[in-house]
Amino acid sequence: MNWSPTILRIGDIAIKMHVSFLLLIGFEAWRWREQGVTGMLFGVGLILLLFVCVVLHELGHALAAKSVGIPVREILLLPIGGLAFLTRLPRKPLHELWIAVAGPLVNVVILIALLPFAIGESLTYVLPGPEVTPSVKATISALYTANVMLVLFNMLPAFPLDGGRILRALLALFAGERTATNIATLIGQAVAVIIGVLGVLGGNILMVLTAAFIFLSAGNEKAETRTRTMLETKLVGDAYNRHALTLTPADRTSRVVDLILTSYQPDFAVMQGSQLLGIVTREDVMNSLAQEPNDVYVASIMQRNVLRVPHSLTLDEVRNVITAHEGQVAAVFRDQEYLGLISLTDIDEALAVIDYVERQKQLTTAT
Ligand SMILES: [Zn+2]
Repeated sequence: MNWSPTILRIGDIAIKMHVSFLLLIGFEAWRWREQGVTGMLFGVGLILLLFVCVVLHELGHALAAKSVGIPVREILLLPIGGLAFLTRLPRKPLHELWIAVAGPLVNVVILIALLPFAIGESLTYVLPGPEVTPSVKATISALYTANVMLVLFNMLPAFPLDGGRILRALLALFAGERTATNIATLIGQAVAVIIGVLGVLGGNILMVLTAAFIFLSAGNEKAETRTRTMLETKLVGDAYNRHALTLTPADRTSRVVDLILTSYQPDFAVMQGSQLLGIVTREDVMNSLAQEPNDVYVASIMQRNVLRVPHSLTLDEVRNVITAHEGQVAAVFRDQEYLGLISLTDIDEALAVIDYVERQKQLTTAT
């Protein structure tokens, strides 16, 4: 079952809403039940309006990302807020800064647009509950408060909140990306601890959960940046398997089984001379054996549509390409010349080696 159906499409961006959102709408209707149908409609209407502001905030991120060449395919709405999924992370600090600022900026623009209606009114600055009589004033009050809260909360300097990204981008302008991420992570986790302690003291379970989420996300962000910066140091042309065993279309599955058992190589290129015809993975062989007891030619089970990557890409870029195609393996080419295969597992292994070498270097410089 699809838990987050698309409710709207804006350009190539799908706005998806998680089904748990319906619980929130139901809860709001129930909260306003004492004011009858009008009250319930008002309560539900308010929550929908607030989420329109959240969608606009995420669209701000999405448009900013698009303006620097990073498409956003979907925006996901959860009862706790929204998320814009960038197809890749921005590399330049100024791009990250612009994308992160664009979200809260939208809420600031909404606040400015609301100003003419808010001036002279004695707004309450609390999100209205069922004790409020439905009115235009209560609506503006709610919108105002929600947008102020959206700006303040998102500007907290903690990943994955916008403020954390802004902080990291600003630091990265002066220090390197790794140092910037390390400092931003430290500050983010400290903020998370403060929110968590305040939540525990105030008995606010939502704050405690938010704090835990921020704390873990900050750690993930740090690990991901470390991985990315390490993989950026190696080109795929220097890291593919040069000594891989290959197959010809006349080989049969029994030979592949032998090769897998004796070499532990999981993926094989099927070659006709120097031409790459396709690839056969361990899964292909297993699937074939499960369906077809006869010893068939590899040509009949190979994948012909092989993802090609140029040898000049970094391991990080190759990893992104493979993941974007929901694949496992890519064929490395120098112009038209086939060089070898590289899989996500190979990249993980390369990462472990780069990591090891780097730690050794740090040890030698530290002593
Ligand atoms: Zn945001």
